[in-house]
Parts: sequence; structure tokens; C-alpha cells
Amino acid sequence: MKITLAKHTGFCFGVRKAIEKAYQTLKEHKRKKSVFMLGEIVHNEKVINELKKEGLELVSSLKEVPSHSILILKAHGTEKEIYEESQGKDIKLIDATCPMVKEIHRKALYLEKKGHKIVIFGDKNHAEIKALISYLKDFIVIEKKKELKDKELSGKIALLLQSTQSLEESLEILKILKKTNPQTLFINTICPDAQARQKEVIKLSKNNDKVIVVGSKKSANTKRLYKLSKKYNKNTYWLNRAESIKKNNFGKEDRIAIISGASTPKETVEKIIKRLKKLYSE
Ligand code: SF4
Repeated sequence: MKITLAKHTGFCFGVRKAIEKAYQTLKEHKRKKSVFMLGEIVHNEKVINELKKEGLELVSSLKEVPSHSILILKAHGTEKEIYEESQGKDIKLIDATCPMVKEIHRKALYLEKKGHKIVIFGDKNHAEIKALISYLKDFIVIEKKKELKDKELSGKIALLLQSTQSLEESLEILKILKKTNPQTLFINTICPDAQARQKEVIKLSKNNDKVIVVGSKKSANTKRLYKLSKKYNKNTYWLNRAESIKKNNFGKEDRIAIISGASTPKETVEKIIKRLKKLYSE
């Protein structure tokens, strides 16, 4: 078996920062104040369970957070209202929003102020998009290109993307928008890390017999990598644990590429490689 590990594995910059902030906050405040996270700060079960063991409590609404406590806000961004409401409750916020995500908020707000309708290509139910639209008034969110059929868009339009969006699909959306609105502004807000992983997974999927994409089923960027790889290589597997690998999944002669989502710890990838070597080197 030949295993090729992608250059881009393990945490991205934004996820690493958010996790470091969480551990730092726990170290500073744990014995004096309760520390909460509003939603999972990153999308990985292993990381979240370890943080919970250290004392970080998970809540799904601000109502569950008592006064005089600490609240960590997730890497994908948090709705504007949460910042406002927490002020009146004497809750100290630790903002772990990724700077790239904040940059998308800034760009969207700027363009809206300049009179553009913001068309966002992203998952309506993803935390990042929910946070982004909480700052905007004039916007629509598109998940699939066919949704554009029923929309009548006029005036100044700017197309912005979820940070983990696929560039290929985004360009298809842009093409459709430009048919009716040739002046559509395209702001590529896919984060450089996500773009690099997408580029790499396409290459790996074309040059290997099988591809393993490692990451949580909750992770949007892992899903994107899996879909892209599957497009070019139907023998693509989405795994989150080494234990899920069964002896009959792979063969001794396979050329296997491994890549991970941005919120996957390196140790998970290493365990998968170890298990593959154990199962197929005998
Ligand atoms: S994938 Fe990009 S935008 Fe998302 S957390 Fe990582 S660095 Fe930030």
C-alpha cells in the first residue's frame, strides 16, 4: 500500500487559534468563574470532548449563561444580537471568531453600505452564515444554483461566499448571476486554507486509487473536500476515527491519499495511517 499524506492536514490557523484561546481562558478563569461556549467552538467531537473534560461547558443559548461568567464565542462567528445582549448580563466575552470570518463580515457590510444587495453562496443553517446575515439587511442566501431561478435580482449585486465554499461551484453561480446582472461584483471570500485544501484534494483524487478525507460529519469544509474528491474519484471515504476502517475497505496494492478538514486534529490522521499500516502491511 502506498500512502500519500496531503500537505494540508490538521488544524487551520483559525481553528488552532480558537482552541488555544479556549485552553488559555480555562487556565485563567476555571477556578474563579464558570466558562461556557455558545455552540461548539470548532466542529470536531474529539476537540470538544477534551475541552469539556477541562471544564468548558457547552450551551446552546445565551439564556443558559449566568451573570458573572465567561463565554467563549466560536470560530465560525456569532450573531450580532449575542454581543449586544451579553453586555446587559455582565458576561465577559472571549471572541474566538476566526479573523478570516470577521473579514467577510467587514466586506459584506462595506458593500451593503455602498448600495449592493449581498448574494451569499453558503449553507443557510451553518453558524458562519447565520452570524454573517445577522449584520446585514439587504441579502439573500443561495445554497444551490437552481435557487437563483426564482429570484429577481436587480440593481447593484455583490456575490460573497462562505469561507469554505467550493470555488468551482461559486464560479457557476457567478456565471448565472452575470447573465441578468453583468455588473455583478464577485468577492472571493473562500479562505486561503480552504482553497489550498480543495486544490490539493482535486489533485490527489486524480492521482490515487482511493482517497480518505478525515473529519467530523458536522464540519462544512470536510464535507466540501469529500464532495470534491468524490467528483473526481468515486473511491473516496469520509472517516472520523481510525476504528471505522475495515479490512475489506482497502487492498495491499492501493495508492491511498489522505487529507483532513480544517478542524481535524493531526493525531486523528496519524491514527488512521497507523491503522492502515497495521491492517495492510501483514
Ligand atoms: S477554514 Fe479558514 S475561515 Fe475557517 S476557521 Fe479555518 S482559517 Fe478561519
